[in-house]
Amino acid sequence: MMELKSFKKLFLMTKVINSQFELSDILQVFVDAIASEITQADLVGFFLKQPDGTFIGYKGNKMSIDITELLIDPQKDSFVRDILERRASDYIGDTSIDERIDDDKKLLMKIQSILGIPVIVNDAVFGVVFVHDFGKPMNLTREQIEVTEAFVNMVSVAIHNIQMFENTKNLVDKQQLLLDATKALSKSLSVREVLKTCFHYMKRATGSDEVGIHLYNEKDRTIEPYHISSVSVTEEEWKNRHREEIKLSIDKDKLFYEVVTEKKAVAISDVYADPRPDHRACEMFNIKSLLIIPLVAKDRVFGDVVIPTMHKCREYEQGEIEFCQSIADVTATALANAIHTENLDYSVNVRSMELQQANFKLEGLVKELEYLNELKSDFIATLSHELRTPITAVKGTVDILRKEVLGKLNDSQLDLLETAGKSIERLLNQVNELLDFAKMENGKFELTYSEFDFEEMIREATHIVDSLINKKKLELAVEIHADAGKTMRADRERILQILLNLLSNSIKFTPQRGKITIKAYMEAGGMTIEVIDTGIGIPMEKQKNIFTKFYQVNNQINGTGLGLAISKQLIEMHGGKISFESTEGEGSIFKFTVMK
Ligand code: ADP
Repeated sequence: MMELKSFKKLFLMTKVINSQFELSDILQVFVDAIASEITQADLVGFFLKQPDGTFIGYKGNKMSIDITELLIDPQKDSFVRDILERRASDYIGDTSIDERIDDDKKLLMKIQSILGIPVIVNDAVFGVVFVHDFGKPMNLTREQIEVTEAFVNMVSVAIHNIQMFENTKNLVDKQQLLLDATKALSKSLSVREVLKTCFHYMKRATGSDEVGIHLYNEKDRTIEPYHISSVSVTEEEWKNRHREEIKLSIDKDKLFYEVVTEKKAVAISDVYADPRPDHRACEMFNIKSLLIIPLVAKDRVFGDVVIPTMHKCREYEQGEIEFCQSIADVTATALANAIHTENLDYSVNVRSMELQQANFKLEGLVKELEYLNELKSDFIATLSHELRTPITAVKGTVDILRKEVLGKLNDSQLDLLETAGKSIERLLNQVNELLDFAKMENGKFELTYSEFDFEEMIREATHIVDSLINKKKLELAVEIHADAGKTMRADRERILQILLNLLSNSIKFTPQRGKITIKAYMEAGGMTIEVIDTGIGIPMEKQKNIFTKFYQVNNQINGTGLGLAISKQLIEMHGGKISFESTEGEGSIFKFTVMK
């Protein structure tokens, strides 16, 4: 039966250890509680189990003997071996009879009697507690052993709680980190940002300074270096070595073959003890341990994250690998999207650059054409000018001859000269038209406004065409409405030119005995002049081209095809309008309006 005071101590210890979160504090309370319960004991020590199966001194009741240096190897200590095998406490009342404990320790600690109890947490041995004397046997009672066992049970529960707490805290921390990483990656739009974020979280997750990303080329089955964040090698050096010396391919490298084909992370704590990695490459970068995680997007591996450890080996826990895989999964989607977008951006850029270049070319072409056009207009202008002078001279000569100033001429000579005179007149008109056109094209054409009597101008026009009218036996009528007034403000010479152009077209395209009418009236605040004929008219399908430069309905030799184009431009320079209506075989109405 446990004594009341032992219960009290147990209760007290429970209270204390439940208010502690640090394992070392709890174990201290624990060994001290046992020491105060088992008064005959000189030393109470807690030994922690290590991964290699040995036990290291961790907490003792007496600091005068530092047990933290002590190592117990069950292989050499059959007492400990028995405790571990049976998973139960054991007590040696007299070490001179029961010789299971290690001689060195027995002598060092002057152990006469010893109690050993395994600390089992979650079905696994967590440590061992030793209670022993220092030269004077303890003679423990059954009850004292039971009380100590009760203390050990108590501490087992406490350790279990701590572990649970640590695990949960770890899990929550990791989940938070993953959540942060996901958030940050979803906000990373460029490849650069995604990589930066991935590197940051991978480093936080593994505590490593080195993270690299390869891209997998499915076609060539090669692993290409993409980006790296490293303290031991520059990205350029890393890439150069990969391209020139290492040249990773899944057909040559078992490690990458496994990562790519099985779509799973591979962790190797000692690369030289494992046949899969490329040992030469590991040597080159001083790699001792490796963690490689595939980057999978849309169910395809398009690359991998590699987290190496340089200079010394390290172990990777399953939880850590899984966690890194989670970050890699989020990275993969973000990275695949960013690479895709940037490639698109790149091709759009290339496309718009091409377009820009094409535009430059086009602009150049337009400039060249403009220049050629100018050259052409200049050429026409020069040519017309050069032609006009001798034509005028010839005309003068013909006029002098016809006036018989230089001597009498016979009838046939006069006829010849008259024909020559008409041809010269026509030629001169055409040259003048060309000259006007060239001037307009070059923008060198200017209007000279004046207030003039338009009735008088119409009279002048009819007078000029009089002989042509008579020759064709045409009827000419002039109708001037009263509302038209008497004067208008415009460039008189040009308005006369337009009227003459329309009149001569009408005469030209109206058969003998036809009728030509000139009408003048006000329309919408503008002075309107119409030239109406009963001529051949213009076929419907040809009408749309009538004002186009050099256009002629029948490609007749007579004329330049410029008259109407020039007239239109002249009217428009006046801020007016020119139009026509025509019916084939019936006649045409050409009309223009100039604001008064
Ligand atoms: P052109 O110097 O050849 O007369 P225009 O520009 O004055 O050049 O006229 C262009 C073409 O329009 C003419 O060649 C002719 O075919 C047609 N045209 C112009 N006026 C008339 C009209 N009154 N009747 C019939 N066809 C006409």
